[in-house]
Amino acid sequence: MYNFTDLHLHTTHSWDAEQTIESLIKKAYKEDVEFLGLTEHLDFHNNHPESFMHLDYNKYTAAVEHAKKDFPGLIKGVEVGEPNIYTELYDKYMEGKHFDFIMASVHWINGATPVFEEYFKRYKSYDDAYKKYFEEEFKLVSYGNFDAVAHLTLVHRHGKKLYKEYTYEKYKKEIDDILKVIISKNLALEVNCSGLRHPAKELIPDEDVIKAYIALGGNSIFIGSDAHRLSDSFYGLKEGYETLDRLGVKEIVIFEKRKQVRIPLRDDDIEGL
Ligand SMILES: [Zn+2]
Ligand SMILES: [Zn+2]
Repeated sequence: MYNFTDLHLHTTHSWDAEQTIESLIKKAYKEDVEFLGLTEHLDFHNNHPESFMHLDYNKYTAAVEHAKKDFPGLIKGVEVGEPNIYTELYDKYMEGKHFDFIMASVHWINGATPVFEEYFKRYKSYDDAYKKYFEEEFKLVSYGNFDAVAHLTLVHRHGKKLYKEYTYEKYKKEIDDILKVIISKNLALEVNCSGLRHPAKELIPDEDVIKAYIALGGNSIFIGSDAHRLSDSFYGLKEGYETLDRLGVKEIVIFEKRKQVRIPLRDDDIEGL
């Protein structure tokens, strides 16, 4: 009943993932997922020497081209950490390279990742820690030299354990400012299902943020499981699709050569049937 797609997947081409493209394709055939968006990590910070510019573009491209013969719905993406901070390295890396889409993330804020307790301990209050995260997201989307925004509200994936007071309403100003920029720059917004298997136990961003995005006029959503291993791949997609369906979303986006392509959310929405 749904056109299942998963546009946030890491494979052995990422420094921290173990599943192979081939194993993903096998699972996609089994679970009827029509499009797979590979979003291998591209990082420029120096917090982990093993992650620094780890993505081997030529090797990755050859692997995708080869695998596409088996699975035409393969989409060659990349997940870039903080391109707004490492602009020079980012521009240089992208020279002469072609991706179907570039997704951008805030993974590091002053040397800490906003999912671990270590991050929260650096701030006087959880409120400060969340505000700092939203500030960095605002800077990222304002830079906007990419196609898609990954896991907005990532801070709450683990933060929920520590900070029950977070609600969209409480951070409406900060979140709406980010959403407005996303919409004005025609960036696509990810509904990330990884929160369902982490302490947040909900989509990232949560339903209230998705509603706000729609109310502000946004209509370019894509869905991803953010899986680094096969057992997590496609996890929560059904719940993500059901949520969007309930919120009245009719189309989601996939990408081809840096362009959004719209497909119906439900596979029974094809006219004439
Ligand atoms: Zn990420
Ligand atoms: Zn990711």
